[in-house]
Amino acid sequence: MIVIVGAGLAGLVCAKCLVGAGVRDVVLLEAEAEPGGRVRSRITPEGFVLDRGFQVLLDSYPAVRRHLDIAALRPRYFESGAILHDRERAWTVADPRRHPGDLLSTATGGMFGVADKARLVALVGELLLTPDERLLGRCASDADVSTAQFLWSRGFSRDITERFFRPFFGGVFLDDPLGTSAGLFRYYLKKFATGRALLPAGGIGDIPRQLAASLPPGTLRTNCRVERLSRVGNRVDTVVTARGEEISCDALLLATEAPATARLLERPPAGEPPHGTTVVYFASDHALYARAMLALPRGRGRLVRHFVPLTNVAPEYAPPGVHLLCATVLDRRGLPDDALSAAVVNEISEFYPAAAGLMRPLSIIDVPYGQHQQRAGFARNLPPAPARTTLENVWLAGDQTGACSIQSAMAGGERAAHLLAGLAAG
Ligand SMILES: Cc1cc2nc3c(=O)[nH]c(=O)nc-3n(C[C@H](O)[C@H](O)[C@H](O)COP(=O)(O)OP(=O)(O)OC[C@H]3O[C@@H](n4cnc5c(N)ncnc54)[C@H](O)[C@@H]3O)c2cc1C
Repeated sequence: MIVIVGAGLAGLVCAKCLVGAGVRDVVLLEAEAEPGGRVRSRITPEGFVLDRGFQVLLDSYPAVRRHLDIAALRPRYFESGAILHDRERAWTVADPRRHPGDLLSTATGGMFGVADKARLVALVGELLLTPDERLLGRCASDADVSTAQFLWSRGFSRDITERFFRPFFGGVFLDDPLGTSAGLFRYYLKKFATGRALLPAGGIGDIPRQLAASLPPGTLRTNCRVERLSRVGNRVDTVVTARGEEISCDALLLATEAPATARLLERPPAGEPPHGTTVVYFASDHALYARAMLALPRGRGRLVRHFVPLTNVAPEYAPPGVHLLCATVLDRRGLPDDALSAAVVNEISEFYPAAAGLMRPLSIIDVPYGQHQQRAGFARNLPPAPARTTLENVWLAGDQTGACSIQSAMAGGERAAHLLAGLAAG
């Protein structure tokens, strides 16, 4: 029996590939009531779709193309751009991902200097010519630096960093100081440049639901938390669930998030505290603006990193006639819910004065474990999935073995399946 623990994207893709390879004795154990891990959503009784943290699916991820039927997800696409705000003005800028030349056009007006535009176009052009493996390889290299250092070393001005790079990539990495690896920054910039960001009409949780639907009945067992691993010598021969059930195993894949893996392997949690986030949802009778784009407030240390009327992208996220807005907060500063909602409305009102009368607090979702720290060279200490452990028949997959991304989780699950299918075959 092959046992996979954790039905996040890594575990789901691994199970899907094993089943597809004809392996029959495979079980996927998930602690929660539904699969998806960090990619989940719920629908409220009123009909709002609330994703557990703002995130998007990039259709340029190779593993996404291999494993998801994007059309069946009813994709709702973001426009290629963002609305950049400071106190005085808002600028709608074209995203360089699809039309690098747009930044040189009047679309950005006086937003950035000519030198910044030229640097951005040159950087995107360079990334388009660099293979993904090389960009990601940099994350494991001594030569890697932080995103903030990289932007500075490439001559980008403080202006473009504070107006665009920090609000946008601070939100992507859940890391306002931009201490995240420049290798990863370059990889993401390329993926945004070559693909489109989308939300499934039914919520981000439709991604794991689609993967789970490809599994034969009984393969995925939810509400099934693995409590401990029982060893014989240097092998795990049984996993024991919280309900005391014992499941024998020939090979075990831990597709769990890093702290859960450390608990199961009885080792101290590794590394620095993770990046968390809080998403604050509001209902409104009017969207604050019409575009299907993120709004990015300028500067560092803001409560709201970005906000967006999600229904501008996916009208299905709210009941007819109502809008759903979400604001991403990286550090809620200990504020209780009421005070947090009020402070978020306050910040957004700086840019949209009507917001105060429009935005009705709906829900607040904390995601304490969002992404592990991905500082310069972070991948040096993370052997890619399937990563060996000191136990003979136990491997690791999931973003704990690499970058925090849907691509990394799915591709690692795929590689782990390849190894496990080989073992099962004999
Ligand atoms: C707010 C947020 C925004 C993000 N934005 C993006 C984005 O825009 N684009 C992108 O590509 N990536 C994004 N990511 C990252 C991406 O979502 C993750 O890297 C990816 O989903 C991780 O998948 P995983 O399968 O490795 O782990 P997880 O999703 O963490 O899955 C692990 C699973 O293991 C289960 N588990 C743990 N312990 C046990 C146990 N003892 N027994 C049984 N089950 C157990 C958990 O319940 C969970 O379901 C974002 C993440 C967050 C949180």
